[in-house]
Amino acid sequence: MTKFICETKNLSKKYKDFYALKNVNLTIPKGEIYGLVGENGAGKTTTIKLILGLQNITSGKVYINGYNIEENFTKAIQSVGTIVESPDLYMYMSGYENLKLVANLYKNVDTNRINEIVKLVGLENRIKDKVSKYSLGMRQRLGIAQALLHNPKLLILDEPTNGLDPEGIKEVKVLLKRLAEKENMAILISSHNLAELDTFCNKISIIKNGEIVKKDLMEKNKWNEEFADL
Ligand code: ATP
Repeated sequence: MTKFICETKNLSKKYKDFYALKNVNLTIPKGEIYGLVGENGAGKTTTIKLILGLQNITSGKVYINGYNIEENFTKAIQSVGTIVESPDLYMYMSGYENLKLVANLYKNVDTNRINEIVKLVGLENRIKDKVSKYSLGMRQRLGIAQALLHNPKLLILDEPTNGLDPEGIKEVKVLLKRLAEKENMAILISSHNLAELDTFCNKISIIKNGEIVKKDLMEKNKWNEEFADL
């Protein structure tokens, strides 16, 4: 059994003669929310795409639940739930119908599982309403519900609070905290805003020009000191 649900070893990505990512090492155990923070163009999305097997790795390795993403893609990706860009939702359908559509893509996701997830993301009172009537925070929670249907161990979200109002941001944070603490999930989230991940992630690493410049920071005060010069 591997200790980490997600692990990258010297992960690098080169576009022509430009390195977008250089020797990135991340380790995320169960029950941990890991924040990857960087300015636009720092390499957050590239890191996530390589972890998800959406782009070819130039050098280095990615392991998900112990499986190498290049050598054992199917096994590795079974353990991952993600929202690529924004959630894929049909506005004229209900939340429940949207979940049913995704559930149909999997063999083992039955009605009980859908209901369990609806409860987990706190949408039980509104799940029969059309998505067009949802707030942005509710839409994001529904997107996360879609990503959780197949019971992944790792949830990866690229800038999940982008475009949300403060209430929506709070809803998403509360949900992610619950998933990590109660469901023991490993969660990787990216953000360009350090302050937004404050008091929320268990660990934070800062990425700049494709390199991790501050690694595995854990305490708010320490972050503030560490970032004074960034
Ligand atoms: P953002 O928040 O703007 O999405 P990011 O931190 O996610 O930023 P990436 O999208 O990972 O950054 O990009 C990292 C670097 O790689 C940038 O300089 C970007 O221009 C470059 N890059 C990304 N995709 C490609 C590509 N397909 N071809 C060439 N360069 C690319």
